[in-house]
Amino acid sequence: MAKTTTKKKSGKNALLSDQSMAFLRNYINTPSPVGFESSGQKVWLEYVKPYVDTHFVDPYGTAVGVINPDAPFKVVIEAHADEISWFVNYIDDKGLIYLKRNGGVDHQIAPAKRVLIHGKKGAVKAVFGWPAIHTRLGSPDTKEPQPRVDNLWLDCGARSRKEVESLGIHIGAVVTYEEGYDELAFDYLIGRAFDNRIGGFMIAEVARLLKENKKKLPFGLYVVNAVQEEIGLRGAEMIARRIKPNIAIITDVTHDTHTPMINKVVEGDVVCGKGPSLAYGPAVHNKLLSLVQDVAEKSGIAVQNRTVSRSTGTDTDSFAYANDGCPSVLISIPLRYMHTTVEMLHKSDIEGTIKLMYETLLTLTPKTNLSYL
Ligand SMILES: [Zn+2]
Repeated sequence: MAKTTTKKKSGKNALLSDQSMAFLRNYINTPSPVGFESSGQKVWLEYVKPYVDTHFVDPYGTAVGVINPDAPFKVVIEAHADEISWFVNYIDDKGLIYLKRNGGVDHQIAPAKRVLIHGKKGAVKAVFGWPAIHTRLGSPDTKEPQPRVDNLWLDCGARSRKEVESLGIHIGAVVTYEEGYDELAFDYLIGRAFDNRIGGFMIAEVARLLKENKKKLPFGLYVVNAVQEEIGLRGAEMIARRIKPNIAIITDVTHDTHTPMINKVVEGDVVCGKGPSLAYGPAVHNKLLSLVQDVAEKSGIAVQNRTVSRSTGTDTDSFAYANDGCPSVLISIPLRYMHTTVEMLHKSDIEGTIKLMYETLLTLTPKTNLSYL
């Protein structure tokens, strides 16, 4: 284990060190499709192991790092590990491959994208085909075809079903986009599946900071990277029952609403670069939320408020309503272009979200009063 001190600012225990950013790049570039998250989970767990006392993996692949495993009071920090993807659903005689969604993958952005088909013989490169502009505009009043799941196809170079199958591609093989991590000017990052592997990154960084700053917590901390969020919060549902936490802090992405064609009246006012977003909603525990708001204020961390209605649409719902009810809070990071291959976020929000989770953990104790009445 590396020897570190809290005072030296050599970068090791600073936020977003070079090693952290190398992990983020590698983690984002490792496909982790819904239901098939193990490659990404391996990368995540290897990074987290030095910062936790023990770890375990549940039957469907949710990975958990634990600090103070014997403590009776349990706090969870959680993100989801899965990325939206496609399934090979039908292969025609000409070797073209038709798909089914695996999570809320966006058909509108698919044409001309490069993908990897994860078959039995490893990943096979392919592209989403689409008719050329010259050929699809027959007469002036011909309507442009719109991409839909049932008219999109993959072309992997094979010209018969047999050739497709010879590559190890089969019905049920998962397909992920090829585009990965990159950096833009002014501290913006782009990549596929920042939803929600940025969350997995941030909870791992919280564990690292606790370890490197030699912080002792008066409770058991469960650092949870849950599978299968994108198809209905399923991994969180399973692991919440297993851990039975007393408190859960969930992190996920939320929409930056400052780009065109988003209605702030409906979607609220959240923007990249102005800090994590805190959600009000019935699943979010009011007292825990106000504790997090106090922590943000005392620590000088800017936050942006928003509301959710019947559900948060995140793993918060699974934790809140698990067992006999678990006080839960949602700390979201603003993101542009959700569910595309160029999801975009700002470095300062990553730092703000990590800091807010970290400082909240240092404030909580088993005696923290969260009673409503
Ligand atoms: Zn999502």
